[in-house]
Amino acid sequence: MSRVLIIEDEDAIAELEKDYLELSGFEVETENDGMTGLKRALSEDFDMYILDLMLPGVDGFEICRRIRGEKNTPVLMVSARKDDIDKIRGLGLGADDYITKPFSPSELVARVKAHLARYERLIGSNMPENDIVEIRGIRIDKTARRVWINGEEKQFTTKEFDLLTFLAENPNHVFTKEELFRKIWDMESIGDIATVTVHIKKIREKIEMTNKAQYIETIWGVGYRFKL
Ligand code: CA
Repeated sequence: MSRVLIIEDEDAIAELEKDYLELSGFEVETENDGMTGLKRALSEDFDMYILDLMLPGVDGFEICRRIRGEKNTPVLMVSARKDDIDKIRGLGLGADDYITKPFSPSELVARVKAHLARYERLIGSNMPENDIVEIRGIRIDKTARRVWINGEEKQFTTKEFDLLTFLAENPNHVFTKEELFRKIWDMESIGDIATVTVHIKKIREKIEMTNKAQYIETIWGVGYRFKL
């Protein structure tokens, strides 16, 4: 749920804004003093700020400037006078929008929704996509370290996951047990290459649907190969 912080010293207006935004599904917090509002705006995470211009303590101009110094969260400024809007623009505070009192609450809600949608798209486009390996019904999300077999999620231990991922990323290539052991386990670890055999068995129990290996083949006397 999106959280909105309203900083407004006229209680009736703050209540009106809060009621309408809550009816539209937003979580709303209000502060009626500039200094308290500014502290909250900077110390907590909100998805949008609605700032009145004239406030006791610290005014809306200053709050906007301070928020912009730290965050890209959308800011909607509310003012009682039309000429204040020119002032806001002139100061280049980085507010995203302005609305003058009196305004219709539904107009306010529409604007908040539009700014939030735009902001979420912006954040979404900056998120790198997860690194996915997909082969014949097996989907490995390397970033989230999750595995799905024919759409059903299966749990793998760390080494099982690493081994399966390594084989799936290098299909049609035979690896000896020694190679796999060196690759997946610590180079220095004094291990038993039988560990590899045990892990392959565990992985197969989770990914193979029949007794005949569909994915990881045993190449007798050599090692294992992930079938393409
Ligand atoms: Ca005011």
